[in-house]
Amino acid sequence: MTNLFEINKLNMHYSITDNFLGGIKGYIYALNDVDLIIKENEILGLVGESGSGKSTLGNCILNLITPTSGEVLFKGENILNKKKSELKDFRRKAQLIFQNPYMSLNPRMKIYDILKEPFIIHGIKDKKEIDKTINNIISLIGMKNEVLTRYPHEFSGGQRQRIAIARAIILNPEFVVADEPVSALDVSIQAQIVNLLIDLKKHLNLTMLFISHDLSIIKYISDKIAVMYLGEIVEYASKEELFNNHKHPYTEALLNAVPTISEDKKTKKILLEGDIPSPQNPPEGCKFHTRCPYAFDKCSKNHPQLVNINDNHKVKCFLVENLI
Ligand code: SF4
Repeated sequence: MTNLFEINKLNMHYSITDNFLGGIKGYIYALNDVDLIIKENEILGLVGESGSGKSTLGNCILNLITPTSGEVLFKGENILNKKKSELKDFRRKAQLIFQNPYMSLNPRMKIYDILKEPFIIHGIKDKKEIDKTINNIISLIGMKNEVLTRYPHEFSGGQRQRIAIARAIILNPEFVVADEPVSALDVSIQAQIVNLLIDLKKHLNLTMLFISHDLSIIKYISDKIAVMYLGEIVEYASKEELFNNHKHPYTEALLNAVPTISEDKKTKKILLEGDIPSPQNPPEGCKFHTRCPYAFDKCSKNHPQLVNINDNHKVKCFLVENLI
């Protein structure tokens, strides 16, 4: 499969301004030298605790926020170098599904107008074509045409997220970032929305970055998985490889936190203790060393690099570096 996105050395450091003196008093290191590849027609799951930089990465890939440095190549072209006028085509091809369907739909607009808005933004005026596309999309998301004359508040959370998804895909994008799209929904509805996204991916040949803190959902939907910790990718692998042959202690701890039906009490498990450190003041060396049960001297002084175990598996940990 060809690369749709190639992300190289991406950094996002937000400056913190001193309210009294006006100068910069520090930085929030949200993304640090992130390298990532997203292949065409695959779902890449991005997992990590809250505060690990997942949403910032999704927003940088869509060029909704401008990173401090690095490259985001879309089909080989760096979209970060493009002018606003040159980005129009990219904006149509790359869309975002928000976490909260209660906030992402304008409560004063009828569903028809919400779905028509992207056409207006992109200068598409053919009413017949617009109506035909809206009708097709409504049936694709499992709803009926009569919803078009109603307002968002008349729908449940799951129905609203279906409508928000319809809005994101109405211009037939190639790529979608789904940022925690089910975490605001009732557990009983989550599987329906995840299955809808899988169906849409197949039907529309979509490539997707699916962001979640929930490994069981990530396992269900993803082809490949990237694990993030404190603004860095610490492990990247195919789903099978990550679940059966993970190498990073943080991945191990995340997997151990997922409840299973048969717990083997004899096997010693590493569990995550304490909170993720502040991205304003990240630890020196390996960023995970303050919580890693395998940490040794080198870990607090030196910074490990992401190394290839094989073509489909990369890990950032000295334990793995020592094995290669
Ligand atoms: Fe743990 Fe050291 Fe590996 Fe970091 S480099 S994950 S601290 S063993």
